[in-house]
Amino acid sequence: MTRLAICPGSFDPITNGHLDIIKRAANVFDDIIVAVFNNQAKQPLFSVEERIELIRQATADIPNVQVDSSKGLLMDYAQEKNAQAIIRGLRAVTDFEFEMQITSMNRKLNEDIETFFMMTNNRYSFLSSSMVKEVAKFHANVSDLVPPVVEAALIEKFKQENV
Ligand code: ADP
Repeated sequence: MTRLAICPGSFDPITNGHLDIIKRAANVFDDIIVAVFNNQAKQPLFSVEERIELIRQATADIPNVQVDSSKGLLMDYAQEKNAQAIIRGLRAVTDFEFEMQITSMNRKLNEDIETFFMMTNNRYSFLSSSMVKEVAKFHANVSDLVPPVVEAALIEKFKQENV
């Protein structure tokens, strides 16, 4: 039986913290789908298509990773794909409370699909897409924080926006 896990998120844009979780998950599961969900509460910088393309390029060297997006509920998506697991990354305690809430709701929706949490690599514990966007806006160097394709896309985006 093939073990498939979904790594869901906004990925606006993908960071080295996300990438670290995806790579480690890809060592444990047979297949991984990185799924972009448009979080309505967040005003995105990159379109879903742009985010997918950046993730595709950043994960091109990991053979068992696919990239997709969904507008629906995560648990419906996971069921449709026959996934066994959802993978989420945990950084600080602040992530914990929020993740507990989502996970208990998701379990109510479908108790057959297990959620696994992976603790962040210490190097990335304070890294978030929002933080990266905040500093990139002011043309700070983010090369240690994101894959090179994302760095280039951020430079281009903020050039266009003329910030
Ligand atoms: P969401 O809007 O669903 O929280 P994000 O793109 O912010 O989407 O995050 C997707 C997943 O990646 C979440 O599980 C989040 O906790 C995790 N994550 C984000 N940044 C890091 C990081 N630096 N280290 C580990 N996990 C992270």
